[in-house]
Amino acid sequence: MTPPLARRLGLDEDELVSCVACGLCLPHCPTYRVTGLEAASPRGRIAAMRAVELHDAPIDATFLRMMDECVQCRGCEAACPSAVPFGHLMEGTRAALASQPSTATAGAPSTPAYRRIGEWLAFRVVLVHHSVLMALTWLAWLAQRLRLLPARVGVPPLRARELARPLDIPRGRTAAGNAPDAWLFTGCVMDAWMRDTHRAAVTVLAASGLSCARPGNGGDCCGALHMHAGRVDDARRLARRVIASMPGDAPVVVDSAGCGAAMKDYGRLLGTPDAERFSARVRDFAEIVAERGGVAAAATGIRVVVQDPCHLRHVQHAHLPVRTILGEAYTLLETDDDGLCCGAGGAYALWQPELANAIRDRKVAALHRAGLDRDGTVVASANPGCLMHLRAAGVDAVHPAVLLARALARQPDHDDQPPDD
Ligand code: SF4
Ligand code: SF4
Repeated sequence: MTPPLARRLGLDEDELVSCVACGLCLPHCPTYRVTGLEAASPRGRIAAMRAVELHDAPIDATFLRMMDECVQCRGCEAACPSAVPFGHLMEGTRAALASQPSTATAGAPSTPAYRRIGEWLAFRVVLVHHSVLMALTWLAWLAQRLRLLPARVGVPPLRARELARPLDIPRGRTAAGNAPDAWLFTGCVMDAWMRDTHRAAVTVLAASGLSCARPGNGGDCCGALHMHAGRVDDARRLARRVIASMPGDAPVVVDSAGCGAAMKDYGRLLGTPDAERFSARVRDFAEIVAERGGVAAAATGIRVVVQDPCHLRHVQHAHLPVRTILGEAYTLLETDDDGLCCGAGGAYALWQPELANAIRDRKVAALHRAGLDRDGTVVASANPGCLMHLRAAGVDAVHPAVLLARALARQPDHDDQPPDD
């Protein structure tokens, strides 16, 4: 039986009808660009949400596919002259579909069992228990050594030396027991797979005069991936844990654009003054380094193509500080695609590999047009998902923190070894 008419997705009617179908967002939508289909466009998706929510259309296989194929990059939201809050609408839709699978009508395929089990394990066990994630990471390292782990699984090349070497900053306080100048949010997957980036961030933050501590217990996973998947209750629970793990007034520095976007939105997610105050303390790594005037790294002469992660550019609107902090040491090159998504999108590349790869092909072409072909040119990207997705296509993509730490290490008065991530 189809549920009654209104509120099947729980979306705000004013938000739904604010789309005037002008189509100005279409060129900014990666799935529309690679398919040319209205059903894969923001306008088409909003029309489908509206049909279900306000006109009793069925939640069928077509509707589920239209929602599932969205990368949630929010490029459409940034381009929309009518300020349609597409991200909010899509989050609400995903949450409704995740919390009431029975909302779907007969004829809509159920999610395959392997995906349901995989998601349950990832969201309820692995991401939220860092020791489990680290144990699985060691297993993945072993499987990589034995050539048993297919590249399509998406785990980057792991190094035992890195996995065995903890981040050399205190947990929950400074070495002297004081509140830190800043908290460095180390996260779940990033701490396991890209700890070099955190090391570089600590080096650069120290050069800008900030000593860091990592979050106390419970501050390992920000819940961004849960939110993407519509698991709002899980995301709220994790947000409360993260807030409690970094008390005080010190800024919370995040070197993952996706995590930073989620944490800046805790105020809205939880709707409490505490959460609002916490969100106001969150800074992307580049934002805080730029606010402190950069680190005066000497020019390297190396060319860098800047790739803006969607959650840095379209959601946090914090893509310009990346240019500010890298510009003193590197020659920056820009793409001509107006910040179009690279196709990473959290777990999107895992569940929608064909679309993710087609979107990435366009991005790689844009990087080459910008000058990636020239010897020694690298790509800067401030999000672990984008870094892994681009590297899987053979692109030499590096986090801005690593680039800055490398630039500092070239200076004669600086002791640190250059990071090799
Ligand atoms: S989402 Fe905005 S830009 Fe896109 S069609 Fe609707 S009103 Fe136009
Ligand atoms: S969020 Fe991204 S993929 Fe989804 S409709 Fe908007 S532009 Fe397209």
